Amino acid sequence: MIDATLYLTGVRKDTGEYEENADSCQLCKKMIINAGIKNVIVRQKGNNKYNVIDVNDWIKNDELLDGKITY
Ligand SMILES: [Zn+2]
Repeated sequence: MIDATLYLTGVRKDTGEYEENADSCQLCKKMIINAGIKNVIVRQKGNNKYNVIDVNDWIKNDELLDGKITY
């Protein structure tokens, strides 16, 4: 898994549409970091809209240290 790319898509159960601001939760972020994944590409609502996340940014800017708990 070292330097792998993970693709993430969130689909709303009620509408079947892509989630507008899909993101990983804290627990998944930790597992992604520990797996050595390099990038996460998240599909966003709309045609061909993607966020490309550098996993190193999650390490450098740990939300838990800022008191942000999302999970
Ligand atoms: Zn999760």
